[in-house]
Amino acid sequence: MTVRVRLAPSPTGNLHIGTARTAVFNWLYARHRGGKFILRIEDTDRERSRPEYTENILEGLQWLGLAWDEGPYFQSDRLDLYRQAIQTLLDKGLAYYCYCTPEELDALRSEQKAKGLAPRYDNRHRHLTPEEQAAFDAAGRIPVIRFKIEDDRQIEWQDLVRGRVSWQGADLGGDMVIARAAPRGEIGYPLYNLVVVVDDIAMGITDVIRGEDHIGNTPKQILLYEALGATPPNFAHTPLILNSAGQKLSKRDGVTSISDFRAMGYLAPALVNYMTLLGWSPPEGIGELFTLDLAAKHFSFERINKAGARFDWDKLNWLNRQYIQQLEPEELLAELIPLWQRAGYAFEEGSDRPWLLDLTQLLQPGLNTLKEAIDQGAVFFVPSVTFDAEAMAQLSQPQSATILTYLLEHLPSEPTLTVEMGQHLIQQATKAVGVKKGATMRSLRAALTGAVHGPDLMATWQILHQRGWDQPRLAAALKQVQTAS
Ligand code: GLU
Repeated sequence: MTVRVRLAPSPTGNLHIGTARTAVFNWLYARHRGGKFILRIEDTDRERSRPEYTENILEGLQWLGLAWDEGPYFQSDRLDLYRQAIQTLLDKGLAYYCYCTPEELDALRSEQKAKGLAPRYDNRHRHLTPEEQAAFDAAGRIPVIRFKIEDDRQIEWQDLVRGRVSWQGADLGGDMVIARAAPRGEIGYPLYNLVVVVDDIAMGITDVIRGEDHIGNTPKQILLYEALGATPPNFAHTPLILNSAGQKLSKRDGVTSISDFRAMGYLAPALVNYMTLLGWSPPEGIGELFTLDLAAKHFSFERINKAGARFDWDKLNWLNRQYIQQLEPEELLAELIPLWQRAGYAFEEGSDRPWLLDLTQLLQPGLNTLKEAIDQGAVFFVPSVTFDAEAMAQLSQPQSATILTYLLEHLPSEPTLTVEMGQHLIQQATKAVGVKKGATMRSLRAALTGAVHGPDLMATWQILHQRGWDQPRLAAALKQVQTAS
């Protein structure tokens, strides 16, 4: 049988890292088995679903390289199918109209709470007579539809991650609402557990791979499969992603959506690699740095951990760094250009390309994330710099003015500054002023960049020289020193 798996995100927020990690596992398993990966947008929550979230989800999956083979299907296009299934359940006597008001349900819950019982619906409208129903209709009550759940039913499945899982019908909260309120004879808006099962049946899903937070829905869904005369698929409940305190990663932890990670400068292959490691242990010999294709080859549920997976920024940064270092400078530049544009830096992609490429090569070894290239690249995009405290201290050294004066007087006029020319000039200045070479270099760096730390000085200087900015910066630094003293 061909494996068919699905990702079923609700468009009630941007693509969340938990959903993306579920997508990774589905994608890996589909590829591993030569199966199909289906995308289904669960947009039946009309109040909270938004088209821009759907956009964000599709874009995020594409960016991550998690291509789907079928879909996206939208549940909002499939309401008739769900209503037919609900009608079938009503016809079979497996579902019924319940007229309880929210106040009655609240009262029931308070009563249960007072007795120290878990809240559950007490199935009180399961056996209403036609007369009782007619009386409620006449009183203007509008019923929901509930699916019967027998307390004495034991529901079991062999979870591909968690092994044998067993639930008691009595622990499922009583008969479950499958359609919102609508006048009797009509079928109200269908609800989550029902629509998922109807779709998974209709789409021939063989394996449901999803986060462990759905485990409590699975027994209810298994009962719905039975009621609709279908065989349940395999289930694999993957561990949750936890924050550093060991709690489920949530919005409160800051960055959680894929578009945020992207904006922070993580590369898609690094992020999918990292997400794969969140819960899956690669077999010996693979290492921790791998492509999705390689992971797919070796994917198995046995290597998914049962315990929650702690999100580790250091690990992600380390991985991202490895991927950045592997990029060709041209590829890295292509990633940096939109970032620099968004930062408001002025440049011409065409005519400025030579020095942009030099700058990319200069920054590459120091980058953990692409975004760091915004700050680290800043001094190359604006003509003048401001001096930080350390740079000011350096420039206030007794010989700094003399060093800067010497450099200014001997600055080569050729448009290209070679390494030899630059080194020669530093040596000459050092000798002429009678300082250590380090002092010359620190003063030069402070004048050129406004800081005493940074990437390779010679390459920095070469780019600034190419831009014609070394002379004015040295002059400005000298002026600063002279006015300060
Ligand atoms: N729509 C559900 C969610 O976004 C997923 C349902 C499922 O995978 O069965 O959490």
